[in-house]
Amino acid sequence: MIYIVSFFRRIKFKSAFNFSFIIALGSLVVTRQLDTAIFTLTTSVFIFQFVSKLVNWWDRSKKTDLPCPMCSYEHSVLLYPSKKKPSDKNSLGSYACSSFDHGKYPDIRFCPICKNGFLSHLISKDRNDVINSGFKMYESVIDSTYIENIKSRYKTYENIIQKYNPYFKNKNILEIGSYYGVFINEVQSIAKSFTGIEPSTHGCKYIKDKYPHINVINSNLENAIANNLLENKKFDTIVLWDVIEHLSSPIDTLRSLNKFLNNGGHVIFSTINIESTFSIVLGPFWPWFMDMHYYYFSDRGYVDMLHRSGYVIKAHHHFKYFVSIAYFVQKITSLIFGIQLSNKNLLSKLNMSIPIQLGDTVLVIGKKEMLSN
Ligand SMILES: [Zn+2]
Repeated sequence: MIYIVSFFRRIKFKSAFNFSFIIALGSLVVTRQLDTAIFTLTTSVFIFQFVSKLVNWWDRSKKTDLPCPMCSYEHSVLLYPSKKKPSDKNSLGSYACSSFDHGKYPDIRFCPICKNGFLSHLISKDRNDVINSGFKMYESVIDSTYIENIKSRYKTYENIIQKYNPYFKNKNILEIGSYYGVFINEVQSIAKSFTGIEPSTHGCKYIKDKYPHINVINSNLENAIANNLLENKKFDTIVLWDVIEHLSSPIDTLRSLNKFLNNGGHVIFSTINIESTFSIVLGPFWPWFMDMHYYYFSDRGYVDMLHRSGYVIKAHHHFKYFVSIAYFVQKITSLIFGIQLSNKNLLSKLNMSIPIQLGDTVLVIGKKEMLSN
């Protein structure tokens, strides 16, 4: 039952239209009558949205006293119950970017007001322990699968930099979470200056060996700010690629970063979208539901988050990312059959990159708001 209710919890006009379009197409094939298909389409869009509103109204009437950590609404609801067994302990691999630990998540909760999803850890009594152990895992992570597939990842950023060139060309750039330097590889030749912050010791060493002229600070952001490791520098563009959903308090982080931006500067981040049609279709099997992702943003969620941390939203777009065919095959077999294939054998045969655009990843640009006082 909860899976059906949670399906409608995230329905918006766009997903209602997508589902209705498929149903209408089915009716066109069966009846071969265009007017019946159009009637089916409009009626179906209405029904999807009506049920979604009904579920939202029902959710808002519940008193759970389990607050949403993003908007502080007091009564979040359960989106999907935990699929973790007591024996499923977090390992270093769970915190690697290319983790195959899909589906082993704690309870995922949902806020009926801001429509964001989040892990139940964030409002539990062991919140601090979970966050601190996450910090330690990020420091120690070694992600060999990522390095083996790194060439296809360069293409993702080559594409982004081409499309959003004015935000990078001749700009002073700060990157939070440089990991193994895929963005550095593409942006270094056009940036005016570049500074990276990366908690993984292995990632930092990899970057320092490969790009010795690049300044990367081996630290988490909180520590870098507390110890003034950025030395009051100001930047034109701050980027966080696939980082914001891993943070325990993304609003606080964006507020801290605001101080490091020049007037008119931009923050750019990529993240996953819980309201995408693909995410709704896969329900609890959406591969991004995992331990290391604390937040699952809605469209409204990241707009509100930017606004509350001192930015105006400039754009939010879906974007395509590239993966090697070998990595794609590995992900699919891991998701469907729970089998982890050897990457090295696959890579020798399937090292070509393919673009993936499922509509569940989004790139968001916020501009520093000019405060009048
Ligand atoms: Zn909320």
